[in-house]
Amino acid sequence: FNTEQFGQHILKNPQVAQTIVEKANLKPTDVVLEVGPGTGNLTVKILEQAKHVTAVEMDPRMAAELTKRVQGKPEQRKLDIIIGDFVKADLPYFDVCISNTPYQISSPLIFRLLSHRPLPRVCILMFQREFALRLVAKSGSTLWSRLSANVQLYAKVDYLMHVGKNNFRPAPKVESSVVRVAPRDPPPPVRFEEFDGLGRILFSRRNKTVHGNFMAKGVIPMLEKNWRTYCSETNQMVEDSVDMKVEIEKVLEETGNAENRAAKMDVDDLLKLLYAFHEVGIHFA
Ligand code: SAM
Repeated sequence: FNTEQFGQHILKNPQVAQTIVEKANLKPTDVVLEVGPGTGNLTVKILEQAKHVTAVEMDPRMAAELTKRVQGKPEQRKLDIIIGDFVKADLPYFDVCISNTPYQISSPLIFRLLSHRPLPRVCILMFQREFALRLVAKSGSTLWSRLSANVQLYAKVDYLMHVGKNNFRPAPKVESSVVRVAPRDPPPPVRFEEFDGLGRILFSRRNKTVHGNFMAKGVIPMLEKNWRTYCSETNQMVEDSVDMKVEIEKVLEETGNAENRAAKMDVDDLLKLLYAFHEVGIHFA
């Protein structure tokens, strides 16, 4: 295990650790998931407030240190440590997730939390500053991206605070930020792969028109293939006369989206466009 590869930058400022845990507004009945507890600087503060904590830690030496830290204390029976990779681990039930994890797993972490069922009430997560800013970006701003749209489709994300490098040991190269992710429950009834598939097309050049991005190389053949699959799965005849380009342009014109740009479209605009495509059997996954 190596500091850079596993992002083992320990949060050494107890005030910052305290604030992160307070932002979760824990109830005494809460079951908490912590990803990458390290030596347990956040864990011990969570244990003071929650009913139970499951911590997933990949480095057995870190897990051993955390075990030692609670040994013989009343908190010991409130803590379970899973030694392993969060990305592959089976997750238990949890109400809240609190994590300062290595930034390499930022994307898998957030999407795994959002696809977990039942949905957590809230997640307080520390990320590299640039990633955090993309999570909270609004449409029309320079950081609005496919990531922003995908996450905001399923959650309300708020920026909580900046955490400078010097709060960690060893100090990382990048700046950090803490965000609150509150999943929308129930989630919108749309398959992630569909919404993301549309996003891949529209955000491939976010300042290009929607029409322009649909005309990019490979897009029409892909949608044609999806359409054939959809027809056979729903036992419909595949009409050879269907011209996918014409069908796409019809949807874009009817919804008034042809000249829009993803850079300026919000989650609602994207969803409406997706539903309009679905109505005529055009699918993105
Ligand atoms: N949470 C602690 C803190 O704030 O002081 C430690 C933070 S350190 C940035 C990240 C921790 O995550 C390390 O202990 C590292 O071993 C662990 N880790 C790295 N990759 C992991 C993974 N895929 N699954 C679980 N833990 C991981």
